[in-house]
Amino acid sequence: MATEGGLNDHERSLYSRQLRLPGVGEGGQLRLKHAKVLIVGAGGLGSPAAIYLAAAGVGVIGLADPDKVEISNLHRQVLHGFDTLGLPKTLSAAEALAEINPGIEMPLHPEGLTAENALELVGRYDLVIDGADNFSTRFLVADACVLSRRPLIHGSVLRSEGQVGTFLPGAGCYRCLYPKMPDPSEVPTCSAAGVLGATCGIVGSWMASEALAVLLGSRNASRLLQVDARLGLTRPLDLSADPDCPVCSSRPRITRIIPENYRFSCPSPVMSEHPLEVTVREAAAALASPAPPLLIDVREPDEHALCRIAGARLIPMGQVPEQMAELPQDAVILVHCHHGGRSLRVTQFLRAKGYRAVSNVKGGIDAWSREVDAAVPRY
Ligand SMILES: [Zn+2]
Repeated sequence: MATEGGLNDHERSLYSRQLRLPGVGEGGQLRLKHAKVLIVGAGGLGSPAAIYLAAAGVGVIGLADPDKVEISNLHRQVLHGFDTLGLPKTLSAAEALAEINPGIEMPLHPEGLTAENALELVGRYDLVIDGADNFSTRFLVADACVLSRRPLIHGSVLRSEGQVGTFLPGAGCYRCLYPKMPDPSEVPTCSAAGVLGATCGIVGSWMASEALAVLLGSRNASRLLQVDARLGLTRPLDLSADPDCPVCSSRPRITRIIPENYRFSCPSPVMSEHPLEVTVREAAAALASPAPPLLIDVREPDEHALCRIAGARLIPMGQVPEQMAELPQDAVILVHCHHGGRSLRVTQFLRAKGYRAVSNVKGGIDAWSREVDAAVPRY
């Protein structure tokens, strides 16, 4: 029987295995029951995310997607099936989710998230899941979440790689990482790049896991999780707010949603061809290629004097703001330091300034000494 304001016996049985978890319990389960989550895109990422949120007992799951189910969706968009081909994805998804958990409410938004309805729609929910497959929706969702002060769980996939961003209000947003929406001419991979459904499953499930963590109050910082399913690698990165971010800084350039700014609708990939971080081996391969990237060493001069990577240009971290004008904005740039911490901050700073092809060398020159060139002294 129901206890006043608590779970009833049916709910205690249904959720018994997760109620035992530290951080959940009856109080956490009630938080989930009263939570409202908006899922933008009921596709490859939205499907697994929605399934796990529904099964976990999130009380209200809104579904926004303007598309209909097509046969080429089915290998990865596991909410849909042959019996719902041709139906709006919102309806098809709601039917499947109701089978998993009949106790949840599912407001449907078959018009999708648009510049016209974004703020109003996002404002009705506690948290937003972005599984959109195009940049205009991705930036629109991200800006609407900042302007409405809603946490955002972002996901994207390209071939075997994916990423999950957890962006909490005031703690770093999507535009802190990617300040500018790409121009169609800058995105060579507009045609579908191909993806395995299982990779979408990994990323979408991770999105659900992050969403549950935020709803249960166990996240207090923004972060980015990167995964390469082919290599079996994952990397967590802590994020911080960029003081010059165009939307979440104290003097933002974006203060409202202007539809003309979100017109680019190329079905796109997903994540930058230039990852936020590369390994020292990847850096070595790039530097040995016919068109090597610029390599910037952001350590101090005394560290540079101890050891250096051939061809690296020394710009100590504190001098980057004044010297960056000498770096072409379209240049492919690798940034390194001693262990990778300072250079990650510089990488984020340069990205925030519009340098899109800049990557951090993970592990810095220390990893370079260990894995690429033992002749470079360690210190
Ligand atoms: Zn920001």
